[in-house]
Order: sequence, then C-alpha cells, then structure tokens
Amino acid sequence: MSYEHIEPPEEGTKIELTDEETGELSVPNDPVIPIIHGDGIGKDVGPAAQKVLDAAAEATGRQINWMEVYAGQSARDIYDENLPDETVEAIREHRVAIKGPLTTPVGAGFRSLNVALRQTLDLFANVRPTYYLDGVPSPMKAPEEMDMVTFRENTEDVYAGIEWEAGTEDVEKVREFVEEEMGFDSTMHDGPIGIGIKPITEFASKRLVREAIDYAIENDRDTVTLVHKGNIMKFTEGQFGDWGMEVAEEEYDDEEVFAAPDSLWEEQDEVDIPEDAVMVEERLADAMLQWMQLRTDEFDVLAMPNLNGDYLSDAAGAQIGGLGVAPGANFGAGRCLAEPVHGSAPKRAGQNQANPSALMLSGRLMFEYMGWEDAGTLIRDAVEKTIDDGTVTYDLARQREDAEKVSTTEYAEKVVENIEKLS
Ligand code: NAP
Repeated sequence: MSYEHIEPPEEGTKIELTDEETGELSVPNDPVIPIIHGDGIGKDVGPAAQKVLDAAAEATGRQINWMEVYAGQSARDIYDENLPDETVEAIREHRVAIKGPLTTPVGAGFRSLNVALRQTLDLFANVRPTYYLDGVPSPMKAPEEMDMVTFRENTEDVYAGIEWEAGTEDVEKVREFVEEEMGFDSTMHDGPIGIGIKPITEFASKRLVREAIDYAIENDRDTVTLVHKGNIMKFTEGQFGDWGMEVAEEEYDDEEVFAAPDSLWEEQDEVDIPEDAVMVEERLADAMLQWMQLRTDEFDVLAMPNLNGDYLSDAAGAQIGGLGVAPGANFGAGRCLAEPVHGSAPKRAGQNQANPSALMLSGRLMFEYMGWEDAGTLIRDAVEKTIDDGTVTYDLARQREDAEKVSTTEYAEKVVENIEKLS
C-alpha cells in the first residue's frame, strides 16, 4: 500500500498472518512496526520506549524497523484530522503496532480516539497484566501478591456509545418508546433526562471469555474469574456471566476446565476439582474490588465486560504502584496494538519527566505476542533492575527518599544499559 504522509522504512519485512483460523503469525527478525507516539507525555515516553525496545531486539539478534504513524495532535498537524484512514490501514496491514496515549479532543464528534481505534480494528480484548516490580513504592502491605491478568471486552457495553442527550427530540422519542411501548416507568423523576443503552452480545462475551481461558491454560494459571454486576443488570452483565460459564462448560474437557457451580460459594460445597484444571468462576464486581485488595493472591485471570474492566484494571494498577508502571495491549484476531494504561497527562507533557516504564512494558507484551519472549523478559528485568537500583522518574521518586530522580531520557538510557548488562 502506498501512503500519503507515512514514510515506510527503507528496510524491513512485514509480519504476515499464516493461519486465518488460529490467528498465527509469521514474524521475521526485521519486522516493520507502526508506532504512534501519542499526545501529551506520549511525546516524551514514546521515543524513550522506542530506544529500549530497539536495545532488547538487538540484544536478541533482531532489528525493528519503525514506521511512525499519526493520530491525535500529530495527525491534526499533518492531515487536519484526528485519525486518518491511512493510520488505521497501516496498523491493519502490519498487524502488530504500539501506541502512546491520545487525548480525546473536546467536541470531536466521537467518544474517544482510543475507542475508535479499538473498534475499527476489532481489537476485542484489552489485556493488562498487573504484576509487582521490586523497588516500586506501593500503598499495599504486600504488593508482591498481585500477579493478575485482566481481560476487558473492548468493543461494546456502554462504550458502544448509544446515548441520547437531555433536552433533545431524540431522547424524548426514546423515553416515549420505553414508557408507552415497553411499559416501563423510565424514572421516578420528571424533567430533562439522558438515556443510554448497554449492549452485551453472546458473540463478544464468548470470544472474550474464550481468550481468557485459553490464556490461563497456556500460562498455567489456576483460575479465571468472570466479574460482572449480574445481580442488578441481569440481562446484560448477568448474560455475560451465563455465556462465559457456557464457554467453560461446553467448549473444554472437564479435565482442562472446571466450571464452578454457584453452590461452591453459596453453600460452601465440597467439590472435586481436577488437579490441573483451570477453575472458571463468577464474582460480583463490587465485591471483587474489595477482594482484590484483601485476598490479592487468590486471583489469576479476570474476564470482564468493558466498563468493569476499565475500573478494575486501573484499581489493580494502583496496587502495584500506579499508572507509570501499568502496561496493556489490545488483541484481535491475528492483531495486537500495545498501549499503556495511562493517558496523556497534559500537565506533565513536554517536560521530559514522565515515567516511560508503562510503555516499555507494553512493548514487552507486544514482543511476547510476536514470539519474542526472550526480548520481552529482558525489558521486564532491566526495568525492574533500574528501579530497584534506585534510578526512578519523578512519580516514583515522590515516594522513595532513597532513590535518585532522573528525567525520562536518562531513565531510558539506564534501562538500555541494564539490558546490555543482563543480556
Ligand atoms: P492520565 O493522563 O493517565 O494522567 C493522570 C495522572 O496520572 C497524571 O497527571 C500523573 O499524575 C499520573 N501519570 C499518568 N501517566 C504517568 C506517567 N507515564 N508517568 C508518571 N505519572 C503518570 O489521566 P487523565 O489526566 O485523566 O487523562 C488525560 C487525557 O488522556 C484525557 O484526554 C484522556 O481522555 C486521555 N486518556 C487516554 C488514554 C489512552 O490513550 N489509552 C487512556 C486514559 C486517558 P501526577 O501529575 O499526579 O504525577
């Protein structure tokens, strides 16, 4: 494909899909990888993370050929639009990409650039591994107990954006339909109203839960917890739980996956769980938020509808030291777009002070997806060593008097040095 403003690298080979059904990729040692630096602190952390990813690739005998693509402010400067088609097409075509945070412009006509990208590319699972790195200050007594992976459904729920604004003709039509045609009292209160719809489909719920169970099996995890609010939203959140349990019951051998019956919790039943089976269970979202803190080590993999996933994964991130170190990635069929949990933090932008660890560790996820586990482990170990040795950015320095506060670029240089030492 030829591009208008994107400059493809002179060298490099494209990652290709080899098996449509399994999403298996053929990854060369010199892949072309699109990168969006992003807005705000993205301009600081993007180039810093890129250096670290380059160093880890080189240390394991590979070379990344970066292809910068544009979204957000950088796209407005060049194309006069927020998300150019050729950015989406470049990511679609190259299959594996990484991005920094994007600010959602006010009044842009859509909810968020991030949501638009995830939905357009059908990146249906947002995956966030939350694990503790030695040396990171945390508010918890035993932060090392956290080693959890959250799978958040990425394409529907209230993020589908089916909402009507108070005071419009449309919202009054919806209200009339709900009250007159469907026979519900839409609210106890008169006056202006906003109405939203929460769609949850069998297809999207099942493919997300399937992804989480497959991950648990492949990575020797013990449990998959379906987290929802089905006691109140029975036909959306509750359905998510029911469909998820159907996947566990119907699509796997009993020896491989054990679908926990409700009675396990309600009546404290004794049940025989096959020794190596992954146990799939359901928990209510409100209770889960406290268990995550009080019984952290009991949970392995969580699978959730979109909004629960948003709240819960940020809360889990706080337990291991906050947004500066919380990585993530979006996955679709044969596709990965890695991105940190944090946003563009405008008040810290352009000051060479933000923590690039979250983006570096998102790069680790991308490498793992590409089958470059050795390079991914190097990034993780080098980031941990850098922090544990006491070289940290401002966010961690605030909570660690013994550490030396360095800039984003100095921190990245130290991580590169540690990659060289560890390889
Ligand atoms: P945010 O950008 O994540 O930042 C909130 C605060 O978290 C920052 O002010 C900073 O705290 C801390 N922080 C975040 N990233 C950090 C890093 N790498 N290093 C050190 N500290 C970090 O959240 P927000 O202010 O709510 O959102 C700003 C914009 O980002 C919004 O437009 C939002 O829509 C967008 N956003 C984008 C994404 C994405 O692209 N995936 C995700 C979330 C939000 P202190 O200043 O207190 O140190």
